[in-house]
Amino acid sequence: MRVVVVGAGLAGLRASQQLTAAGADVVLVEGGVRPGGRVRTVRDVFTGGQYSESGAEWVDDHHHRMLELLDRFGVRTLGTGEQWTVIRRWLHHGGRLLDPAAIRTADPGIDEQFERFEAIVDAVTAGVIDANAPHLHPQAAEADAQSLQDVAERADLGELAAIFKRRDSQGEFAAEPRQVSLLFVAQQRAHQRDAAGDRTITAFRVEGGFSQVADGMAAELGDVVHFGETLTAVEQHADGVIVHTDRRTLDADHLVLACSLVPLRRVDFRTPMPEALHAAVHGLGYGTVTKTSVQWSARQWPAGYATTAGRAQRIYEPTADQPGDTGILMSYCGGDGGHEWATMPEGERIELAAAEMRSMHGLTAHALGGYSRAWSTEPRFGGSYSVYEPGQVTAFWSVLREPWGRVHLAGEHVAECTGYMEGALESGETVAARILAAG
Ligand SMILES: Cc1cc2nc3c(=O)[nH]c(=O)nc-3n(C[C@H](O)[C@H](O)[C@H](O)COP(=O)(O)OP(=O)(O)OC[C@H]3O[C@@H](n4cnc5c(N)ncnc54)[C@H](O)[C@@H]3O)c2cc1C
Repeated sequence: MRVVVVGAGLAGLRASQQLTAAGADVVLVEGGVRPGGRVRTVRDVFTGGQYSESGAEWVDDHHHRMLELLDRFGVRTLGTGEQWTVIRRWLHHGGRLLDPAAIRTADPGIDEQFERFEAIVDAVTAGVIDANAPHLHPQAAEADAQSLQDVAERADLGELAAIFKRRDSQGEFAAEPRQVSLLFVAQQRAHQRDAAGDRTITAFRVEGGFSQVADGMAAELGDVVHFGETLTAVEQHADGVIVHTDRRTLDADHLVLACSLVPLRRVDFRTPMPEALHAAVHGLGYGTVTKTSVQWSARQWPAGYATTAGRAQRIYEPTADQPGDTGILMSYCGGDGGHEWATMPEGERIELAAAEMRSMHGLTAHALGGYSRAWSTEPRFGGSYSVYEPGQVTAFWSVLREPWGRVHLAGEHVAECTGYMEGALESGETVAARILAAG
């Protein structure tokens, strides 16, 4: 069986691995010059062997596929694990860095406001019986029509709680609260509930960076992977698919499109897609994350994520578990802010982030170097990760997950564990199993 896979991110690498292991003849074409896609560790701009992740940074303790791969390639997790519920502990507001006690002094009702917010999300989550089929929720249309902004309004959040919840949305979903479907949030929570039960999930960075996993997978595939080759057009007929790249034409029994939907919007699909699929491919929301890393000559900051009302949104230290006197701070900006940062030249972003870091922590250390990556303006990605906007779970969830004849979508956007490396792997496995079953 001949299969063409487009994209050497984790989804395409996993699908290719499983298909070749079952004896299929696979050609994996990747437009870029390296494997990993949105997994991209950066080290060359830093001194002392330090590094930071410009894309995926954390593996959750229930992401078994990822943990197994880390083990296979000898990549160790770092530290004791962070709990998402407690790492966001500082708030930079009104020129002051408030610790958890000071935040509660500033707004004694903040915990009740958070509880009201969570109770609304929990009530909808309870109706998601199968996290892989959120559209079957008994009030699917009603929940999907609402956004996280509606939840914030119903929970009657005060100023500080609203900043935290907006930053949570911009961080977790990379989008503004108004752009995130409540049903999508419930689906994500239901997936975590089913995978981890009642225990609190912890997340880990890894020693040496996640790129090692993609590099290891690509090395195992050897000459199956073809770098610098871009999909340009697709024709589908009853017995197969004709795949055009900027280098050649390939005949295949199946085609796996294992890349973000944004670059697919430029591909010439000569056999027209069904209307519902076309609408989903062209309409699905994508978050905007701009990550900006600056290395400092000394670590002059307290541990933990700091949320800021300022433009840097969130500042934290990716090198917390790396040795050395120097340290890196990261600004993580999503939603409207991620877009706004993307309009600036990289050097300007680094300077702006450095200025916010200095002001937040009163740094006197020297900035040694840095980089900034705006995923929304990278043509082969067009965003950081998918976000189902209001109305999109009911309209797009199942249509994106069904095969279109011999063409199959893979990637984080069609996983149950949407938005994560684990989801990319999951989607690659799903598609490989479906193709092998179809023959
Ligand atoms: C800023 C950021 C932070 C993140 N944080 C985390 C995290 O902490 N934990 C976590 O688990 N996940 C995180 N993620 C998500 C995770 O990185 C992705 O879900 C996952 O890597 C997506 O893999 P993929 O294979 O679906 O797609 P991709 O990695 O995008 O791979 C697709 C590949 O297809 C290629 N391609 C595109 N178009 C074409 C074409 N026409 N022809 C040929 N090739 C093409 C691209 O170059 C790319 O290499 C983060 C992502 C970002 C951007």
